Amino acid sequence: MINQKTLAKTIEISGIGLHTGVAVNLILKPAPENTGYVFVRTDLDDFEIPASVEYISHCSYATTLLRRGVVLSTCEHLLAALRGYGVDNCFIELDNLEIPILDGSSENFIELIERAGTVEQNAPRRFLKILEPVEYADGDRRMSIEPSDRYEIECLIDFPHPLIKKQIYNFELVNGSFGREIASARTFGFTREIEMLRKANLALGGSLDNAIVLTDDGMLNEQPLRFENEFVRHKILDIIGDFALLGMPFLGKLKAEKSGHAVHASLMSKLLKTESAWEIVEVSGSRFQVSS
Ligand SMILES: [Zn+2]
Repeated sequence: MINQKTLAKTIEISGIGLHTGVAVNLILKPAPENTGYVFVRTDLDDFEIPASVEYISHCSYATTLLRRGVVLSTCEHLLAALRGYGVDNCFIELDNLEIPILDGSSENFIELIERAGTVEQNAPRRFLKILEPVEYADGDRRMSIEPSDRYEIECLIDFPHPLIKKQIYNFELVNGSFGREIASARTFGFTREIEMLRKANLALGGSLDNAIVLTDDGMLNEQPLRFENEFVRHKILDIIGDFALLGMPFLGKLKAEKSGHAVHASLMSKLLKTESAWEIVEVSGSRFQVSS
């Protein structure tokens, strides 16, 4: 059996929130078996918000959790790093409402986790095994999950922009693949969208240090893209982070077409309500010994 893992020691990092612009200190701590990921608002008497589909609040530009009026914003890049690296249990303490954006990818979180190291625990890792297809569509945005004995994502994005256009990427979460292929892909936005977001008091912490900023025919960043298809890779990063809210890795094939946080949330809640479509299993074998 593959056992659950947690961090070998406590680690911390500071930064600012992408949308709120507020400074935040983040501490990742080892957690017991079967804890999953639990956010702890140290500025609010250690109020806990488990990383779970049931607490998804809204998800227009980032995934926000809400429990009894307490908000936790932009959790997806950190959760992607934990899931992608194979950390099952972690307390995530923060002293403000938004996870720091850092460089707009998961790379700094992966470096932190690598520095801390991981330890194997006694309980077996559980997987959400998909038994029958479930699909969700909203206009031309669609997403489905179907049976597979692996953790697979096929993602398509299509933006009428010369740096993006149509990009398709097939990803399988296996030993080290998240760190190699996905972790360093940055978030992106369009200048016209950013003006609109600022008017809505969002993207206040956004800058060329933490996002790829696209103009009508190019980008404002002077550094080159990290991958030619960095955009679709970041979409996969967001998908892994959002689907970490299921509380365990899935065994299935996710297909995403022009999806976003809201579509991810809708598919997850439809999947969980369709009880015939999944079961919780433990598996043996080395494929899922995920780490870098
Ligand atoms: Zn993102």
